[in-house]
Amino acid sequence: MTIFEGKGICEAVAMGKISVIRKQKKEIERKIITDIKKETERFENAKDEVLSELEMIREKAVGKVGEEGAAIFEIHKMMIDDEDYNDFILNMIKDEKVSAEYAVFSASEKFSELFSSMENGYMKSRSADIKEISQRFINHLSGIDDNYEISEEKVIICADDLSPGETILLDKEKILSFVTAKGSLNSHTAILAKSMNIPAVVNVGDGFLSLIKDGDFAIADGFSGKFILNPDEETISYYNKKSEEYKERETILLSLKGKENKTIDGRKIKVFANIGDEESITAVKENDADGIGLFRSEFIFLRRDDFPTEEEQFSVYKKVAEEMSGGKVIIRTLDIGADKQADYFGLPEEENPALGLRGIRLCFSRKDIFKTQLRALYRASVYGDINIMFPMITSEKEVDEILSLCKEVRKELEKEGILFDEKTELGIMIETPAAAIISDDLAKKVSFFSIGTNDLIQYTLACDRQNLSVEKFCDTHHKAVLKLIETTIENAHKNGIWAGICGELAADISLTETFLEMGVDELSVSPSYVLKLRQKIRETDLSK
Ligand code: PEP
Ligand code: MG
Repeated sequence: MTIFEGKGICEAVAMGKISVIRKQKKEIERKIITDIKKETERFENAKDEVLSELEMIREKAVGKVGEEGAAIFEIHKMMIDDEDYNDFILNMIKDEKVSAEYAVFSASEKFSELFSSMENGYMKSRSADIKEISQRFINHLSGIDDNYEISEEKVIICADDLSPGETILLDKEKILSFVTAKGSLNSHTAILAKSMNIPAVVNVGDGFLSLIKDGDFAIADGFSGKFILNPDEETISYYNKKSEEYKERETILLSLKGKENKTIDGRKIKVFANIGDEESITAVKENDADGIGLFRSEFIFLRRDDFPTEEEQFSVYKKVAEEMSGGKVIIRTLDIGADKQADYFGLPEEENPALGLRGIRLCFSRKDIFKTQLRALYRASVYGDINIMFPMITSEKEVDEILSLCKEVRKELEKEGILFDEKTELGIMIETPAAAIISDDLAKKVSFFSIGTNDLIQYTLACDRQNLSVEKFCDTHHKAVLKLIETTIENAHKNGIWAGICGELAADISLTETFLEMGVDELSVSPSYVLKLRQKIRETDLSK
Protein backbone atom coordinates (compact mmCIF):
# COMPACT_ATOMS: atom_id res chain seq x y z
CA MET A 1 0.00 0.00 0.00
CA THR A 2 1.33 3.45 -0.90
CA ILE A 3 -0.27 6.70 0.21
CA PHE A 4 0.13 9.91 -1.78
CA GLU A 5 -0.89 13.19 -0.19
CA GLY A 6 -2.62 15.69 -2.43
CA LYS A 7 -5.55 18.04 -2.27
CA GLY A 8 -9.07 16.73 -2.20
CA ILE A 9 -11.82 18.09 -4.39
CA CYS A 10 -15.48 17.26 -4.06
CA GLU A 11 -16.23 15.58 -0.76
CA ALA A 12 -16.64 11.95 -1.77
CA VAL A 13 -14.57 8.80 -2.07
CA ALA A 14 -13.91 6.63 -5.09
CA MET A 15 -12.54 3.09 -5.11
CA GLY A 16 -11.63 1.11 -8.18
CA LYS A 17 -9.15 0.33 -10.90
CA ILE A 18 -7.00 3.06 -12.36
CA SER A 19 -6.41 4.05 -15.94
CA VAL A 20 -3.32 6.11 -16.64
CA ILE A 21 -3.18 8.85 -19.25
CA ARG A 22 0.42 9.31 -20.29
CA LYS A 23 0.91 12.23 -22.59
CA GLN A 24 4.10 11.74 -24.52
CA LYS A 25 6.02 14.63 -25.88
CA LYS A 26 9.07 13.79 -27.91
CA GLU A 27 11.93 16.16 -28.46
CA ILE A 28 12.68 16.17 -32.17
CA GLU A 29 16.36 16.19 -32.94
CA ARG A 30 17.83 17.12 -36.30
CA LYS A 31 18.84 13.62 -37.33
CA ILE A 32 20.83 13.16 -40.55
CA ILE A 33 19.87 10.19 -42.73
CA THR A 34 21.67 8.48 -45.61
CA ASP A 35 18.86 6.68 -47.44
CA ILE A 36 16.59 9.37 -48.91
CA LYS A 37 14.36 6.84 -50.67
CA LYS A 38 13.74 4.90 -47.48
CA GLU A 39 12.99 8.08 -45.52
CA THR A 40 10.57 9.29 -48.18
CA GLU A 41 8.78 5.92 -48.03
CA ARG A 42 8.56 6.15 -44.22
CA PHE A 43 6.92 9.53 -44.63
CA GLU A 44 4.45 8.28 -47.27
CA ASN A 45 3.52 5.23 -45.17
CA ALA A 46 2.97 7.37 -42.09
CA LYS A 47 0.79 9.67 -44.18
CA ASP A 48 -1.46 6.76 -45.20
CA GLU A 49 -1.71 5.69 -41.56
CA VAL A 50 -2.54 9.21 -40.36
CA LEU A 51 -5.20 9.61 -43.03
CA SER A 52 -6.94 6.38 -42.13
CA GLU A 53 -6.65 7.17 -38.41
CA LEU A 54 -8.26 10.57 -39.01
CA GLU A 55 -11.09 8.96 -40.96
CA MET A 56 -11.70 6.55 -38.09
CA ILE A 57 -11.76 9.43 -35.57
CA ARG A 58 -14.05 11.42 -37.85
CA GLU A 59 -16.54 8.58 -38.04
CA LYS A 60 -16.54 8.24 -34.25
CA ALA A 61 -16.95 11.98 -33.84
CA VAL A 62 -19.92 12.02 -36.22
CA GLY A 63 -21.62 9.57 -33.87
CA LYS A 64 -20.93 11.77 -30.86
CA VAL A 65 -21.29 15.33 -32.14
CA GLY A 66 -22.79 15.06 -35.63
CA GLU A 67 -21.39 15.85 -39.10
CA GLU A 68 -20.89 19.54 -38.39
CA GLY A 69 -19.01 18.98 -35.13
CA ALA A 70 -16.80 16.37 -36.81
CA ALA A 71 -15.97 18.58 -39.79
CA ILE A 72 -12.64 19.54 -38.26
CA PHE A 73 -11.27 16.05 -38.95
CA GLU A 74 -12.17 16.43 -42.61
CA ILE A 75 -10.19 19.69 -42.57
CA HIS A 76 -7.27 17.88 -40.93
CA LYS A 77 -7.33 15.28 -43.69
CA MET A 78 -7.22 18.01 -46.31
CA MET A 79 -4.33 19.69 -44.54
CA ILE A 80 -2.36 16.44 -44.51
CA ASP A 81 -2.75 16.33 -48.27
CA ASP A 82 -1.81 19.97 -48.79
CA GLU A 83 0.75 20.31 -51.58
CA ASP A 84 2.88 23.05 -49.99
CA TYR A 85 3.07 21.18 -46.69
CA ASN A 86 4.04 17.93 -48.43
CA ASP A 87 6.55 19.57 -50.76
CA PHE A 88 8.23 21.32 -47.85
CA ILE A 89 8.71 18.00 -46.03
CA LEU A 90 9.82 15.98 -49.05
CA ASN A 91 12.27 18.68 -50.17
CA MET A 92 13.75 18.88 -46.73
CA ILE A 93 14.30 15.11 -46.62
CA LYS A 94 15.88 15.25 -50.08
CA ASP A 95 17.94 18.47 -49.84
CA GLU A 96 18.98 18.48 -46.21
CA LYS A 97 19.00 14.69 -45.68
CA VAL A 98 17.12 14.95 -42.41
CA SER A 99 14.77 12.40 -40.83
CA ALA A 100 11.08 12.51 -41.72
CA GLU A 101 10.28 13.37 -38.07
CA TYR A 102 12.50 16.43 -38.18
CA ALA A 103 11.16 17.50 -41.58
CA VAL A 104 7.55 17.24 -40.31
CA PHE A 105 8.50 19.11 -37.15
CA SER A 106 10.09 21.91 -39.23
CA ALA A 107 7.02 22.08 -41.47
CA SER A 108 4.88 22.36 -38.37
CA GLU A 109 6.94 25.28 -37.07
CA LYS A 110 6.98 27.09 -40.40
CA PHE A 111 3.31 26.71 -41.35
CA SER A 112 1.93 27.30 -37.85
CA GLU A 113 3.88 30.55 -37.64
CA LEU A 114 2.66 31.54 -41.07
CA PHE A 115 -0.97 30.96 -40.10
CA SER A 116 -0.72 32.68 -36.75
CA SER A 117 0.66 35.82 -38.39
CA MET A 118 -2.45 36.13 -40.59
CA GLU A 119 -5.08 38.79 -39.88
CA ASN A 120 -8.09 36.65 -40.68
CA GLY A 121 -9.32 34.91 -37.50
CA TYR A 122 -10.24 31.69 -39.31
CA MET A 123 -6.81 31.35 -40.93
CA LYS A 124 -5.10 32.29 -37.66
CA SER A 125 -6.81 29.44 -35.88
CA ARG A 126 -5.47 26.94 -38.46
CA SER A 127 -2.10 27.35 -36.76
CA ALA A 128 -3.17 25.00 -33.96
CA ASP A 129 -4.44 22.50 -36.55
CA ILE A 130 -1.09 22.38 -38.28
CA LYS A 131 0.58 21.63 -34.97
CA GLU A 132 -1.95 18.94 -34.21
CA ILE A 133 -1.70 17.10 -37.53
CA SER A 134 2.10 17.32 -37.44
CA GLN A 135 2.16 15.85 -33.93
CA ARG A 136 -0.02 13.00 -35.19
CA PHE A 137 2.48 12.46 -38.02
CA ILE A 138 5.43 12.46 -35.62
CA ASN A 139 3.65 10.00 -33.31
CA HIS A 140 3.18 7.60 -36.21
CA LEU A 141 6.74 7.98 -37.40
CA SER A 142 8.10 7.37 -33.91
CA GLY A 143 5.65 4.66 -32.89
CA ILE A 144 3.96 6.66 -30.11
CA ASP A 145 0.34 5.86 -29.33
CA ASP A 146 -1.11 9.10 -27.98
CA ASN A 147 -4.77 8.20 -28.37
CA TYR A 148 -6.15 7.13 -25.08
CA GLU A 149 -9.36 5.22 -24.80
CA ILE A 150 -11.02 4.66 -21.49
CA SER A 151 -12.12 1.10 -20.81
CA GLU A 152 -15.78 0.16 -20.47
CA GLU A 153 -15.36 -0.35 -16.73
CA LYS A 154 -15.57 2.79 -14.56
CA VAL A 155 -12.05 3.86 -13.63
CA ILE A 156 -10.00 6.34 -11.64
CA ILE A 157 -8.22 8.47 -14.24
CA CYS A 158 -4.63 9.29 -13.33
CA ALA A 159 -2.59 11.85 -15.25
CA ASP A 160 0.25 14.29 -14.86
CA ASP A 161 -2.18 17.16 -15.33
CA LEU A 162 -5.44 17.74 -17.12
CA SER A 163 -6.41 21.00 -18.75
CA PRO A 164 -10.02 22.22 -18.44
CA GLY A 165 -10.45 21.24 -22.11
CA GLU A 166 -9.24 17.67 -21.51
CA THR A 167 -11.37 17.34 -18.38
CA ILE A 168 -14.56 18.39 -20.11
CA LEU A 169 -13.92 15.85 -22.87
CA LEU A 170 -13.73 12.93 -20.45
CA ASP A 171 -16.81 10.77 -20.48
CA LYS A 172 -18.36 11.32 -17.03
CA GLU A 173 -20.18 8.00 -17.19
CA LYS A 174 -16.89 6.11 -17.24
CA ILE A 175 -15.08 7.99 -14.51
CA LEU A 176 -14.99 7.22 -10.81
CA SER A 177 -12.52 9.95 -9.97
CA PHE A 178 -9.45 11.68 -11.31
CA VAL A 179 -6.08 12.11 -9.73
CA THR A 180 -3.35 14.38 -11.04
CA ALA A 181 0.29 14.97 -10.16
CA LYS A 182 -0.16 18.70 -10.62
CA GLY A 183 -3.10 21.09 -10.30
CA SER A 184 -4.37 23.56 -7.74
CA LEU A 185 -7.62 23.77 -5.80
CA ASN A 186 -8.80 26.91 -7.54
CA SER A 187 -7.99 25.85 -11.06
CA HIS A 188 -10.81 25.47 -13.53
CA THR A 189 -10.08 21.77 -13.74
CA ALA A 190 -10.83 21.45 -10.02
CA ILE A 191 -13.98 23.53 -10.42
CA LEU A 192 -15.08 21.27 -13.25
CA ALA A 193 -14.57 18.19 -11.09
CA LYS A 194 -16.87 19.75 -8.53
CA SER A 195 -19.51 20.62 -11.05
CA MET A 196 -19.35 17.08 -12.49
CA ASN A 197 -19.60 15.83 -8.89
CA ILE A 198 -16.55 13.64 -9.35
CA PRO A 199 -14.27 13.16 -6.34
CA ALA A 200 -10.79 14.18 -7.32
CA VAL A 201 -7.34 14.48 -5.84
CA VAL A 202 -4.91 16.97 -7.35
CA ASN A 203 -1.27 17.79 -6.70
CA VAL A 204 -0.17 14.35 -5.49
CA GLY A 205 3.36 15.07 -6.67
CA ASP A 206 5.46 14.46 -9.73
CA GLY A 207 6.71 10.97 -8.91
CA PHE A 208 3.37 9.22 -8.74
CA LEU A 209 2.93 8.38 -12.42
CA SER A 210 6.06 6.25 -12.43
CA LEU A 211 4.67 4.15 -9.57
CA ILE A 212 1.29 3.26 -11.02
CA LYS A 213 0.01 1.24 -13.94
CA ASP A 214 -3.29 0.54 -15.64
CA GLY A 215 -5.48 -1.83 -13.67
CA ASP A 216 -3.95 -1.13 -10.22
CA PHE A 217 -6.55 -0.85 -7.48
CA ALA A 218 -6.71 2.47 -5.62
CA ILE A 219 -8.77 4.79 -3.45
CA ALA A 220 -9.16 8.51 -4.16
CA ASP A 221 -10.33 10.37 -1.08
CA GLY A 222 -11.79 13.76 -2.01
CA PHE A 223 -12.17 14.65 1.69
CA SER A 224 -8.58 14.30 2.85
CA GLY A 225 -6.79 14.53 -0.49
CA LYS A 226 -5.25 11.07 -0.12
CA PHE A 227 -4.63 8.78 -3.06
CA ILE A 228 -4.06 5.26 -1.79
CA LEU A 229 -2.50 2.75 -4.15
CA ASN A 230 -3.12 -0.96 -3.53
CA PRO A 231 -4.86 -0.38 -0.17
CA ASP A 232 -4.76 -3.15 2.45
CA GLU A 233 -7.89 -4.86 3.78
CA GLU A 234 -8.08 -2.62 6.84
CA THR A 235 -7.99 0.55 4.72
CA ILE A 236 -10.60 -0.81 2.34
CA SER A 237 -12.97 -1.56 5.20
CA TYR A 238 -12.32 1.89 6.72
CA TYR A 239 -13.32 3.48 3.41
CA ASN A 240 -16.33 1.20 3.00
CA LYS A 241 -17.51 2.48 6.39
CA LYS A 242 -16.78 6.06 5.38
CA SER A 243 -18.83 5.58 2.21
CA GLU A 244 -21.75 4.36 4.32
CA GLU A 245 -21.53 7.46 6.52
CA TYR A 246 -21.37 9.58 3.42
CA LYS A 247 -24.53 7.92 2.08
CA GLU A 248 -26.32 8.59 5.38
CA ARG A 249 -25.39 12.26 5.22
CA GLU A 250 -26.61 12.36 1.63
CA THR A 251 -29.98 10.97 2.73
CA ILE A 252 -30.35 13.79 5.26
CA LEU A 253 -29.46 16.34 2.60
CA LEU A 254 -31.89 14.83 0.11
CA SER A 255 -34.68 15.33 2.63
CA LEU A 256 -34.12 19.08 2.18
CA LYS A 257 -35.28 18.94 -1.44
CA GLY A 258 -38.31 21.14 -1.98
CA LYS A 259 -37.57 23.14 1.19
CA GLU A 260 -36.88 26.87 1.26
CA ASN A 261 -33.49 28.53 1.59
CA LYS A 262 -34.64 30.43 4.65
CA THR A 263 -32.83 31.28 7.88
CA ILE A 264 -34.41 30.58 11.28
CA ASP A 265 -35.32 34.27 11.56
CA GLY A 266 -36.98 34.25 8.16
CA ARG A 267 -34.43 35.70 5.72
CA LYS A 268 -34.77 34.06 2.31
CA ILE A 269 -32.08 33.90 -0.36
CA LYS A 270 -31.67 32.15 -3.67
CA VAL A 271 -29.34 29.20 -4.07
CA PHE A 272 -28.39 28.67 -7.68
CA ALA A 273 -26.00 26.25 -9.36
CA ASN A 274 -22.86 26.69 -11.47
CA ILE A 275 -22.52 24.56 -14.57
CA GLY A 276 -20.14 24.17 -17.51
CA ASP A 277 -22.27 22.14 -19.88
CA GLU A 278 -25.86 21.36 -20.66
CA GLU A 279 -25.55 17.79 -19.35
CA SER A 280 -25.14 19.15 -15.81
CA ILE A 281 -28.76 20.33 -15.82
CA THR A 282 -29.64 16.85 -14.53
CA ALA A 283 -27.48 17.48 -11.45
CA VAL A 284 -28.98 20.96 -11.07
CA LYS A 285 -32.46 19.47 -10.94
CA GLU A 286 -31.48 16.51 -8.77
CA ASN A 287 -30.06 18.93 -6.22
CA ASP A 288 -33.07 21.22 -6.42
CA ALA A 289 -31.25 24.47 -7.26
CA ASP A 290 -33.49 27.53 -7.78
CA GLY A 291 -31.77 28.38 -11.03
CA ILE A 292 -28.42 28.56 -12.78
CA GLY A 293 -26.25 31.33 -11.40
CA LEU A 294 -23.31 30.75 -13.70
CA PHE A 295 -23.12 28.82 -16.94
CA ARG A 296 -19.46 29.02 -17.95
CA SER A 297 -20.15 29.13 -21.68
CA GLU A 298 -16.45 28.88 -22.56
CA PHE A 299 -16.63 25.16 -21.86
CA ILE A 300 -18.72 24.79 -25.01
CA PHE A 301 -15.70 26.19 -26.84
CA LEU A 302 -13.15 24.12 -24.92
CA ARG A 303 -14.62 20.75 -25.79
CA ARG A 304 -14.28 21.35 -29.51
CA ASP A 305 -11.60 21.76 -32.15
CA ASP A 306 -13.19 24.71 -33.87
CA PHE A 307 -15.53 27.63 -33.15
CA PRO A 308 -19.11 26.59 -32.42
CA THR A 309 -21.50 28.17 -34.90
CA GLU A 310 -24.35 30.49 -33.89
CA GLU A 311 -26.75 27.62 -34.54
CA GLU A 312 -24.81 25.18 -32.35
CA GLN A 313 -24.60 27.67 -29.50
CA PHE A 314 -28.25 28.59 -29.87
CA SER A 315 -29.33 24.98 -29.49
CA VAL A 316 -27.31 24.59 -26.24
CA TYR A 317 -28.65 27.83 -24.69
CA LYS A 318 -32.19 27.00 -25.80
CA LYS A 319 -31.95 23.52 -24.31
CA VAL A 320 -30.70 24.89 -20.97
CA ALA A 321 -33.43 27.56 -20.88
CA GLU A 322 -36.15 25.05 -21.72
CA GLU A 323 -34.95 22.39 -19.31
CA MET A 324 -34.95 24.92 -16.47
CA SER A 325 -38.66 25.48 -17.20
CA GLY A 326 -38.75 29.19 -16.56
CA GLY A 327 -36.12 29.14 -13.78
CA LYS A 328 -33.44 31.82 -14.00
CA VAL A 329 -30.47 30.94 -16.19
CA ILE A 330 -27.44 33.24 -16.08
CA ILE A 331 -25.16 32.54 -19.00
CA ARG A 332 -21.73 34.09 -18.85
CA THR A 333 -20.21 35.04 -22.16
CA LEU A 334 -16.96 33.51 -23.27
CA ASP A 335 -14.21 33.72 -20.64
CA ILE A 336 -11.33 32.22 -22.61
CA GLY A 337 -7.75 33.03 -21.66
CA ALA A 338 -5.47 32.35 -18.67
CA ASP A 339 -5.83 28.62 -17.88
CA LYS A 340 -8.74 28.16 -20.30
CA GLN A 341 -7.07 27.91 -23.68
CA ALA A 342 -8.45 26.59 -26.95
CA ASP A 343 -5.66 26.24 -29.48
CA TYR A 344 -7.89 27.08 -32.41
CA PHE A 345 -8.22 30.69 -31.16
CA GLY A 346 -4.57 31.01 -32.22
CA LEU A 347 -3.79 33.29 -29.29
CA PRO A 348 -0.21 34.38 -28.76
CA GLU A 349 1.58 33.13 -25.65
CA GLU A 350 1.53 35.68 -22.85
CA GLU A 351 3.98 36.34 -20.03
CA ASN A 352 1.15 36.79 -17.51
CA PRO A 353 -1.96 35.19 -18.96
CA ALA A 354 -4.10 35.86 -15.87
CA LEU A 355 -3.42 39.55 -16.42
CA GLY A 356 -3.69 39.22 -20.15
CA LEU A 357 -6.16 39.04 -22.97
CA ARG A 358 -8.90 37.05 -21.25
CA GLY A 359 -12.65 37.27 -20.84
CA ILE A 360 -14.27 40.42 -22.12
CA ARG A 361 -10.92 41.78 -23.34
CA LEU A 362 -10.61 38.92 -25.78
CA CYS A 363 -14.24 39.34 -26.84
CA PHE A 364 -13.59 42.98 -27.69
CA SER A 365 -10.63 41.99 -29.83
CA ARG A 366 -12.65 39.23 -31.56
CA LYS A 367 -16.01 40.93 -32.02
CA ASP A 368 -17.03 38.37 -34.67
CA ILE A 369 -16.92 35.59 -32.06
CA PHE A 370 -18.53 37.78 -29.40
CA LYS A 371 -21.42 38.91 -31.59
CA THR A 372 -22.10 35.36 -32.76
CA GLN A 373 -22.47 34.36 -29.12
CA LEU A 374 -24.69 37.35 -28.31
CA ARG A 375 -26.95 36.54 -31.26
CA ALA A 376 -27.27 32.93 -30.11
CA LEU A 377 -28.04 34.06 -26.56
CA TYR A 378 -30.68 36.59 -27.59
CA ARG A 379 -32.31 34.09 -29.94
CA ALA A 380 -32.50 31.55 -27.10
CA SER A 381 -33.96 34.16 -24.73
CA VAL A 382 -37.51 33.50 -25.92
CA TYR A 383 -37.32 29.91 -24.62
CA GLY A 384 -36.88 30.73 -20.93
CA ASP A 385 -35.48 33.21 -18.43
CA ILE A 386 -32.03 33.81 -19.94
CA ASN A 387 -29.82 36.50 -18.42
CA ILE A 388 -26.49 37.45 -19.93
CA MET A 389 -23.44 38.09 -17.79
CA PHE A 390 -20.03 39.47 -18.76
CA PRO A 391 -16.68 38.46 -17.21
CA MET A 392 -13.51 40.35 -16.25
CA ILE A 393 -14.95 43.85 -16.08
CA THR A 394 -12.69 46.63 -14.83
CA SER A 395 -14.27 49.85 -16.11
CA GLU A 396 -17.45 51.71 -17.02
CA LYS A 397 -16.11 52.11 -20.54
CA GLU A 398 -16.13 48.34 -21.02
CA VAL A 399 -19.71 48.12 -19.82
CA ASP A 400 -20.72 50.92 -22.22
CA GLU A 401 -19.10 49.05 -25.09
CA ILE A 402 -20.91 45.83 -24.11
CA LEU A 403 -24.24 47.62 -23.92
CA SER A 404 -23.76 49.17 -27.32
CA LEU A 405 -22.77 45.82 -28.88
CA CYS A 406 -25.85 44.19 -27.35
CA LYS A 407 -27.97 46.98 -28.79
CA GLU A 408 -26.38 46.43 -32.19
CA VAL A 409 -27.16 42.71 -32.02
CA ARG A 410 -30.77 43.35 -30.97
CA LYS A 411 -31.21 45.77 -33.89
CA GLU A 412 -29.79 43.21 -36.33
CA LEU A 413 -32.14 40.54 -35.08
CA GLU A 414 -35.08 42.92 -35.25
CA LYS A 415 -34.21 43.77 -38.84
CA GLU A 416 -34.01 40.08 -39.72
CA GLY A 417 -37.38 39.49 -38.05
CA ILE A 418 -35.86 37.13 -35.47
CA LEU A 419 -37.58 36.97 -32.11
CA PHE A 420 -35.79 37.68 -28.83
CA ASP A 421 -36.83 38.71 -25.35
CA GLU A 422 -36.41 42.46 -25.07
CA LYS A 423 -36.34 42.22 -21.30
CA THR A 424 -33.26 39.96 -21.24
CA GLU A 425 -31.27 41.24 -18.30
CA LEU A 426 -27.60 42.09 -18.59
CA GLY A 427 -25.31 41.73 -15.60
CA ILE A 428 -21.62 41.73 -14.89
CA MET A 429 -19.18 39.73 -12.87
CA ILE A 430 -17.44 41.62 -10.12
CA GLU A 431 -14.16 39.76 -10.08
CA THR A 432 -11.54 42.48 -10.20
CA PRO A 433 -10.82 44.88 -7.32
CA ALA A 434 -11.37 47.76 -9.80
CA ALA A 435 -14.93 46.63 -10.49
CA ALA A 436 -15.70 46.22 -6.78
CA ILE A 437 -14.32 49.67 -5.97
CA ILE A 438 -16.36 51.39 -8.70
CA SER A 439 -19.40 49.16 -8.20
CA ASP A 440 -21.53 52.21 -7.33
CA ASP A 441 -21.03 53.53 -10.88
CA LEU A 442 -21.27 50.14 -12.56
CA ALA A 443 -24.53 49.34 -10.78
CA LYS A 444 -26.20 52.23 -12.60
CA LYS A 445 -25.58 50.53 -15.94
CA VAL A 446 -26.56 46.87 -15.40
CA SER A 447 -29.32 44.75 -13.87
CA PHE A 448 -27.30 42.53 -11.54
CA PHE A 449 -23.89 41.73 -10.12
CA SER A 450 -22.38 38.32 -9.55
CA ILE A 451 -19.20 38.32 -7.51
CA GLY A 452 -16.53 36.00 -8.89
CA THR A 453 -14.50 35.37 -5.77
CA ASN A 454 -12.01 33.06 -7.48
CA ASP A 455 -10.59 35.88 -9.53
CA LEU A 456 -11.40 38.60 -6.99
CA ILE A 457 -9.17 36.78 -4.49
CA GLN A 458 -6.41 36.20 -7.03
CA TYR A 459 -6.35 39.83 -8.14
CA THR A 460 -6.83 41.38 -4.69
CA LEU A 461 -4.17 39.29 -2.98
CA ALA A 462 -1.85 39.11 -6.02
CA CYS A 463 -1.93 35.28 -5.85
CA ASP A 464 -2.01 33.37 -9.13
CA ARG A 465 -4.83 30.85 -8.63
CA GLN A 466 -2.87 28.29 -10.68
CA ASN A 467 0.35 28.61 -8.74
CA LEU A 468 0.60 26.18 -5.86
CA SER A 469 3.63 27.86 -4.36
CA VAL A 470 1.59 30.94 -3.47
CA GLU A 471 -1.47 29.07 -2.26
CA LYS A 472 -0.50 29.74 1.35
CA PHE A 473 -0.73 33.48 0.72
CA CYS A 474 -4.17 33.06 -0.72
CA ASP A 475 -6.26 33.71 2.38
CA THR A 476 -9.78 33.37 1.07
CA HIS A 477 -11.14 35.04 4.23
CA HIS A 478 -8.80 38.03 3.91
CA LYS A 479 -10.35 41.26 5.21
CA ALA A 480 -9.69 43.02 1.92
CA VAL A 481 -11.66 40.41 -0.02
CA LEU A 482 -14.58 40.49 2.41
CA LYS A 483 -14.57 44.29 2.36
CA LEU A 484 -14.78 44.32 -1.45
CA ILE A 485 -17.67 41.83 -1.37
CA GLU A 486 -19.49 43.96 1.21
CA THR A 487 -18.94 47.16 -0.81
CA THR A 488 -20.25 45.47 -3.95
CA ILE A 489 -23.44 44.23 -2.28
CA GLU A 490 -24.02 47.63 -0.63
CA ASN A 491 -23.60 49.47 -3.92
CA ALA A 492 -25.86 47.05 -5.76
CA HIS A 493 -28.64 47.60 -3.23
CA LYS A 494 -28.10 51.37 -3.14
CA ASN A 495 -28.83 51.33 -6.88
CA GLY A 496 -31.74 48.94 -6.74
CA ILE A 497 -30.11 45.86 -8.31
CA TRP A 498 -29.38 42.42 -6.84
CA ALA A 499 -25.97 40.96 -6.04
CA GLY A 500 -24.94 37.34 -5.80
CA ILE A 501 -21.72 35.36 -5.39
CA CYS A 502 -20.79 32.68 -7.90
CA GLY A 503 -17.13 32.04 -7.05
CA GLU A 504 -16.10 29.02 -4.96
CA LEU A 505 -16.34 31.09 -1.76
CA ALA A 506 -20.13 30.94 -2.09
CA ALA A 507 -19.89 27.28 -1.03
CA ASP A 508 -17.73 28.00 2.02
CA ILE A 509 -20.28 27.44 4.76
CA SER A 510 -18.07 29.05 7.38
CA LEU A 511 -18.87 32.33 5.58
CA THR A 512 -22.57 31.79 4.90
CA GLU A 513 -23.65 33.80 7.94
CA THR A 514 -21.28 36.66 7.01
CA PHE A 515 -22.65 36.78 3.46
CA LEU A 516 -26.22 36.72 4.73
CA GLU A 517 -25.43 39.58 7.11
CA MET A 518 -23.97 41.52 4.20
CA GLY A 519 -27.34 41.08 2.49
CA VAL A 520 -26.31 38.87 -0.41
CA ASP A 521 -29.31 37.97 -2.59
CA GLU A 522 -28.06 34.82 -4.25
CA LEU A 523 -25.32 32.23 -3.80
CA SER A 524 -24.39 30.06 -6.75
CA VAL A 525 -22.43 26.87 -6.14
CA SER A 526 -21.63 23.53 -7.80
CA PRO A 527 -24.80 21.42 -7.96
CA SER A 528 -23.47 18.99 -5.35
CA TYR A 529 -23.14 21.84 -2.80
CA VAL A 530 -26.68 23.23 -3.19
CA LEU A 531 -28.29 21.11 -0.48
CA LYS A 532 -25.34 21.49 1.93
CA LEU A 533 -25.70 25.24 1.59
CA ARG A 534 -29.47 25.01 2.07
CA GLN A 535 -28.86 23.06 5.26
CA LYS A 536 -26.46 25.74 6.52
CA ILE A 537 -28.84 28.59 5.68
CA ARG A 538 -31.70 26.82 7.47
CA GLU A 539 -29.55 26.44 10.59
CA THR A 540 -28.55 30.12 10.66
CA ASP A 541 -30.22 32.65 12.91
CA LEU A 542 -29.31 36.24 12.03
CA SER A 543 -31.28 37.69 14.96
CA LYS A 544 -28.78 36.35 17.49
C1 PEP B 1 -14.67 33.58 -10.44
O1 PEP B 1 -13.67 34.14 -10.87
O2 PEP B 1 -14.96 33.52 -9.22
C2 PEP B 1 -15.60 32.92 -11.36
C3 PEP B 1 -16.75 32.44 -10.96
O3 PEP B 1 -15.19 32.76 -12.64
P1 PEP B 1 -14.09 31.65 -13.09
O4 PEP B 1 -13.81 30.78 -11.89
O5 PEP B 1 -14.67 30.90 -14.21
O6 PEP B 1 -12.94 32.48 -13.47
MG1 MG C 1 -13.47 34.47 -12.99
